[in-house]
Amino acid sequence: MHVVVIGAGIGGLSAAADLARQGVRVTVLERAATPGGKMRHVQAGGAAIDGGPTVFTMRWIFSGLFEDAGRRLEDALVLRRADILARHAWREGGRLDLFADIDESAEAIGAFAGAQDAQGFRDFAARSADIFRTLQHSFIAAQRPSPLDLVRRVGRLDALWRTAPWATMWQALGSHFRDPRLRQLFGRYATYCGCSPFLAPATLMLVAHVEQDGVWLVEGGMRGVADAIRDLAESQGASFRFNAEVEEILVQNGRAAGVRLAGGETLAADAVVFNGDVAALGQGLLGGAARHAARDTPRAARSLSAVTWCMNAVTHGFPLTHHNVFFAEDYAAEFAAIFRARQITEAPTVYICAQDRGHAEVPPGTPERLLLLVNAPADGDLADLSPDALEQLQQRSLDLLRRCGLMIEATPGNTTTTTPAGFHSLFPGTGGALYGRASHGATGTFARPGAASRLPGLFLAGGSVHPGPGIPMAAMSGRLAAARVLEVRPRR
Ligand SMILES: Cc1cc2nc3c(=O)[nH]c(=O)nc-3n(C[C@H](O)[C@H](O)[C@H](O)COP(=O)(O)OP(=O)(O)OC[C@H]3O[C@@H](n4cnc5c(N)ncnc54)[C@H](O)[C@@H]3O)c2cc1C
Repeated sequence: MHVVVIGAGIGGLSAAADLARQGVRVTVLERAATPGGKMRHVQAGGAAIDGGPTVFTMRWIFSGLFEDAGRRLEDALVLRRADILARHAWREGGRLDLFADIDESAEAIGAFAGAQDAQGFRDFAARSADIFRTLQHSFIAAQRPSPLDLVRRVGRLDALWRTAPWATMWQALGSHFRDPRLRQLFGRYATYCGCSPFLAPATLMLVAHVEQDGVWLVEGGMRGVADAIRDLAESQGASFRFNAEVEEILVQNGRAAGVRLAGGETLAADAVVFNGDVAALGQGLLGGAARHAARDTPRAARSLSAVTWCMNAVTHGFPLTHHNVFFAEDYAAEFAAIFRARQITEAPTVYICAQDRGHAEVPPGTPERLLLLVNAPADGDLADLSPDALEQLQQRSLDLLRRCGLMIEATPGNTTTTTPAGFHSLFPGTGGALYGRASHGATGTFARPGAASRLPGLFLAGGSVHPGPGIPMAAMSGRLAAARVLEVRPRR
């Protein structure tokens, strides 16, 4: 059996590793020059900077991928548990660290906002753990269920009720935290799935548990995760071709039967796994015959995009740790701007990954590798931000950081910017949406397709597919796609 995997993002790589170890001949075709997809290096000021995912969680998914192939994750990657999950600062004052140790976080929250919110945090942590446990095997690690399947799989209506799909995350957080800054801090977990906390179901509070369960720092940087899974897949016999863009999925007798590359070469296949965003299929970017394999994502349903600045720059004045978040005060305005007005707010939240910190110190006055990110609407297919708008956004963001005490010596020479239009051209069909379809509303998450597309022989893997975005979930989707391919493989 020969399977073509289109895309070497985390979902495609994981599918390739799983298929190859089970004796399938696998060819991975990737339009970029390197594996990893969104997990990519960006060159800035003479340094290679992780310009995509930075928070590595749910280690168990990757351990499982390696163990099933008879390998050990720890032989492929050096992972260190982060003691500080993230450092948070507010423009109007206040600084708060969250820790791997739940008691330490509760104590810090008590000192920051009082005993009632410290207890609120403990209740919140227990609740997010409960939601996670309910959905871990019934939803995250299983083929996509319908709402009714989920009821059957969980088996207990009370447990399912406690996952709170009918409340918004913002409402639920209000019952745990009195201090608005804490509501804002924990609401930010919705953005890990590309959502607004004002529209996402409270169910997404489970992301807080995922972090509490372990945030890992990858020695050598996040790109190493993609390289490690590529090596794993190759060691099992998968072959890779880079700079190989698939223009068409070929269909014969109503089944996906191969692909046509830019340049005209064709490859026959018994099955095809598509790791790009499913919206590209629905838009016909992979040819007319595969157009109905998945639905396009309406603009209003797209998840967040971002403007990112990768910098190799000197910083002063603020004790950065690996993950840092800087907030302005009006969170509702930020998400209303993005999802309603389709703009970036005046003072957006700024996330900074200070990649050389967490396991080491950066000597004062030395340039360090930074990824700065602000959320943006996914309209990169309509127009790019003008140079003026981009310059103003950068100044507003740096100004927010200054108000929090952080100065960054950013120059055009040490900074590389990516806009939603840039993400759109890297990830076709998305408009720059980085997380597929947003899981807004009680049933939004069920709108993601599962591993089997509507076209027989075509399977789906990646952040736009069940169980959702983020590198562990994308890896899980690749595993689920591989399982589906083998389950329905045509008998010869
Ligand atoms: C700035 C940023 C920050 C993020 N932060 C985090 C984080 O901290 N933690 C986390 O877990 N997640 C984070 N994410 C999300 C995470 O990166 C993604 O959910 C995940 O990497 C998606 O993997 P994927 O399998 O969907 O593949 P993608 O990364 O989307 O890759 C798909 C691949 O398919 C290729 N492709 C598409 N079409 C074709 C074609 N026609 N022919 C050939 N190749 C094709 C593309 O070139 C690409 O390489 C972040 C993402 C971004 C961009």
